[in-house]
Amino acid sequence: MSKRRNPIVTTVSFVATFILFLPLTSESASPRPSVVVITVDALRADHLGSYGYSRSTSPNIDRLMSQGLRFERAWTPEPLTGPAICSMVTGLEPHDHAATRNGLRMKPGLNSLPKTLAENGWKTAAFVGTWTLKDNLTLLGEHFETYGERLDRKRWFGILNSEATCEDVTDDALDWLGEERKKGPEKPFFLWVHYIEPHAPYRFHNEYADRIGVNDDQLTKKDRYDTEIAAVDASIDRLLAGIRQAVEEEDLLVVLTADHGESLGEHNYWGHGRYLYEPSLRIPLGIVWPGVIPVGTVSSQATLLDLMPTLLDLVGVEVPEDLPGESWATTIRGAGEIAERVGCYQAHRGAVHGDSSRESDKKRSKGLLWVGVINGDTKEIVKVSRQLIQIYDLAADPGELETLAPVDAKPSDSLSACLARVAEGLGSLDTLATQKLDDETVEKLRALGYLE
Ligand SMILES: [Zn+2]
Repeated sequence: MSKRRNPIVTTVSFVATFILFLPLTSESASPRPSVVVITVDALRADHLGSYGYSRSTSPNIDRLMSQGLRFERAWTPEPLTGPAICSMVTGLEPHDHAATRNGLRMKPGLNSLPKTLAENGWKTAAFVGTWTLKDNLTLLGEHFETYGERLDRKRWFGILNSEATCEDVTDDALDWLGEERKKGPEKPFFLWVHYIEPHAPYRFHNEYADRIGVNDDQLTKKDRYDTEIAAVDASIDRLLAGIRQAVEEEDLLVVLTADHGESLGEHNYWGHGRYLYEPSLRIPLGIVWPGVIPVGTVSSQATLLDLMPTLLDLVGVEVPEDLPGESWATTIRGAGEIAERVGCYQAHRGAVHGDSSRESDKKRSKGLLWVGVINGDTKEIVKVSRQLIQIYDLAADPGELETLAPVDAKPSDSLSACLARVAEGLGSLDTLATQKLDDETVEKLRALGYLE
């Protein structure tokens, strides 16, 4: 995230609200808590009750959000599974970790949140529910002592077995924790769980239809998407209940977020990845640590890049220098407000084909579609191939229906800086080899909608 500020942003920072309702510290809280990060694939913040949704999709997520700090304005650096998760885990922007598209691996040997915690005595494990996050496609496995990818399910007709259900992932995570607890002596752990629901194709979960108010005679895609949220919400409750049997509440820090949102027809687009509009760029984000993190809401801009510095800072581990994200720990401790920043965001083509004759597969820079900045309530995005600029006032026009940019608009200084940084980073990656995907992987990425 760019630290560059302009006068408009400075004004906004004074009106950004940060509301606290509970004491900031507790004598009983562990300085070395176990940390659980839950990511829910393609989960829109505005389809959760805690973000104002009218349907009862998420009672358990809402309760969790009410127990800690909920970020009202959080975005993902890139609205695509592999790139976003690699950014969350390493704290780096996509053009720096190199996994800019699904099927492109990160650079080997990068530092990361789980590696840093492991060096400081935490046990680390991850359990993922989607083929897209397989270690051989991302290199995420090198960052965890245990990397669980039991992907033998299909959720829909025509899709090969390439996923794990939310029940599977929950079972695997709790089984791992049970085995760890048998080994003793107890060490704190870092556990990351990634659920694939409600990623497309949206399966209908009949058992939640009545509660949500869905009529199964006239199901829409949005209805099915909402029942998927209800299903994953129930699994999250079971996961947290199981973990809390093994760990005292004050020794447990929980993060709930998403890799990206999901466009449900807005701008004539279904899915995520190719655009920087709010439905797929905005994410839910909550951090809960009873007795330490206050209950409240933050309305200043936050991103997934903030997670690594924030969590390390909160648990008392030195934060590596030069990370693009910011630590919220100082704000959480009540010792100063984080400045509103200009966030830099990017969108790329969905996945590589594995066909090395395609120019867009050979060079990472050829996959770049859009770059954008968010600056207070102003979002400015540019379609890179045509230098076409759109500007939206997110407060007055949350649906991004009317661009405020004149036809011949030139990029602002902050957008130019973001664009230059992304282009420079991608250019430096173009000598990095892209791997040829095996036929099975190509088929699975195509089934998930990532191949054109
Ligand atoms: Zn995803």
